[in-house]
Amino acid sequence: MTSTLDGWIRNFVDGAFVDPDPQRGFDQIDPATGRVLAQVHEADQALVDRAVTAARRALDNGWADTPVRERTALLRRAADRIEERFEEFVAAEMADTGKPITQARELDVARALTNFRTFADVAAAAGQESFMTDLAGGRQALNYAVRKPLGVVAVIVPWNLPLLLLTWKVAPALACGNAVVVKPSEETPATATLLAEVLAEVGLPAGVYNVVHGFGGNSAGEYLTTHPGIDGVTFTGSSATGSHVMKTVAPRVRPVSFELGGKNAAIVFDDVDLDEALTGLTKSVFTNTGQVCLCTERVYVHRNIFDDIATGLAERAEQLRLGDPTDSATTTGPLISQGHRDKVMSFFKMAEQSGAKVLTGGGIPDLGQKFAFGSWIEPTLWTGLTNEDPVLREEIFGPVAALVPFDTEEEAIALANDTKYGLAASVWTNDLRRGHRVAQKMNVGISWVNTWFTRELRSPFGGVGLSGIGREGGESSLHFYTEPTNVCVAL
Ligand code: NAD
Repeated sequence: MTSTLDGWIRNFVDGAFVDPDPQRGFDQIDPATGRVLAQVHEADQALVDRAVTAARRALDNGWADTPVRERTALLRRAADRIEERFEEFVAAEMADTGKPITQARELDVARALTNFRTFADVAAAAGQESFMTDLAGGRQALNYAVRKPLGVVAVIVPWNLPLLLLTWKVAPALACGNAVVVKPSEETPATATLLAEVLAEVGLPAGVYNVVHGFGGNSAGEYLTTHPGIDGVTFTGSSATGSHVMKTVAPRVRPVSFELGGKNAAIVFDDVDLDEALTGLTKSVFTNTGQVCLCTERVYVHRNIFDDIATGLAERAEQLRLGDPTDSATTTGPLISQGHRDKVMSFFKMAEQSGAKVLTGGGIPDLGQKFAFGSWIEPTLWTGLTNEDPVLREEIFGPVAALVPFDTEEEAIALANDTKYGLAASVWTNDLRRGHRVAQKMNVGISWVNTWFTRELRSPFGGVGLSGIGREGGESSLHFYTEPTNVCVAL
C-alpha cells in the first residue's frame, strides 16, 4: 500500500487509498525551490461524506469499545513503525515545508514518536473520578464517571509543524477510542498521508483514521466542519479561521478545541546572563523561520541592557544559515509559500511606515539559482516601534521581532499583556522570585522562565483570548476527546 504512487498524494478513506480524480488535483510545492513535487487529490463533498461514514462505522464495529490496553499497544506500535520509517517521514516533512533536515529530524519527526508514546502512557494510567454522596438515613451513593469516546472527531491542522501538530491530536483521540477524519493543510499534505500507511501497517481498523485533502472554504475543510456526522472539532490554525469554524459548528452545538494564533512577548530583565538570554531569544524568534505559534515577535528589554541585547540578537540573526535544507548545517528554511512571504513583506512595509529602524534583514536573500523561486526571507529585527504600531499588534508568523525598551517590572508586564492574543510568554531573569512572579502574571496559556518551547506533553496547553479555547495535553486531552457519563448508585 502506498500513498504517493505515480506522483499523486491520495486521500485515505475506510482503510484504503482512493484513486485520484485527475480533474481534482492541486500542486504540492517545495517552498525551498518553488518546484511542483506532486499532485494532491482534493476530496469532494462525497468523499468527505464517505470518510465520516467510515469513521462512524468503525466506531460502531467495535473500535470505541476496544480495551485501552489494545489501543495503547497500537499507538506504541505506530511509534515504533514511524521510527523504522524515520527518514521517509523526514523526507515527507521536508517536501511539505522546505525545513532544514536537522530540525525535521530533531523536532518534527522525533515529536511524532513522543506524541504517540506519551499519550499511550497517559491513557494507560488514567483513572476515573468517583465520589461518595451521603444520603438520608446513613446510606450512601457511589458516583463514578465513565468516559466514552467523543465519537467522530474532525482534526484540522496547519502547515507550520504539520506532523507534530497532527499527531499531538490524533494520538490522544485514538487512545480515547475515537475515529478521526483528518484535514491537513493544503500546503502540507504528505506526512498525514504517510501516517495513514503506518497506521494501516500496525493494524488500526479500517475507518478509524481517514485523511481528506483540500482547502478550507468550499472545500474539504468546510465539508468536514459542516458535516452533521462530526461529534467534535479539534482545530489548530489562525484565529480568523477558528472563529469561522466556531460559527460553522455552532448550530449543531459540537465541542471545539482551538489552538490559534499568538503575538508572544519575551521580557528580558537587566540581571540576565547575556549570552544565555541571547541564545534563548534567538531560538524563540527564529525557530522554523518564525513559523511557530509560540515564537516571540515582541521583545521587551530593560533599558540598561537594550543596546547589548539589540546588537547581540542582530549578530546572532546574521549567523543563521539559510539555504539547502538537505545540508545538516542549515538552520533556517524558507517561509511556507509565496503568498505567506507577501504577507510577511507587507509587515516589512508597515514597519517602515511606522518609522522602524531595521537592525538586520528586511529583504529577500540571494541564495543562488537553485533557490531563486523559493519563499526565502531574511531574519529581521526592528527597533523604534511601540505597542501602537501594527507590527506589534498582529501576528506576522515570520522570522521577525520588534525590540522595545522598558524601565520597570510593572511596565514590562503591562506591555507584554497589551494584546488580544494570549498564547505564550517568556521571562528572562536570574532573579528566581521575579521569574515566578512575572511568569504568573502573563495572560497566556504557557509562560516560560529562562527557556522557550520546552514542552511537557502531560501539562495543559492552549491559549486565552484570540489564541484559543480549551486545553489539550495529558489529562486535558483525555477530557476533550471523551464524554463522561456519571453513574450514581444508591448503596
Ligand atoms: P489557517 O487558519 O489558514 O488554516 C488552518 C487549517 O484550517 C488548514 O488546514 C486550512 O485548510 C483549514 N481551513 C481554512 N479555512 C477553513 C474553513 N473555512 N473551514 C475549515 N477549515 C478551514 O492557518 P495556517 O495559515 O495553516 O496556520 C498558521 C496559523 O496557525 C497561525 O495563526 C498560527 O499561530 C496558528 N497555529 C497555532 C498553534 C497553537 O498551538 N496555538 C500551533 C500552530 C499554528
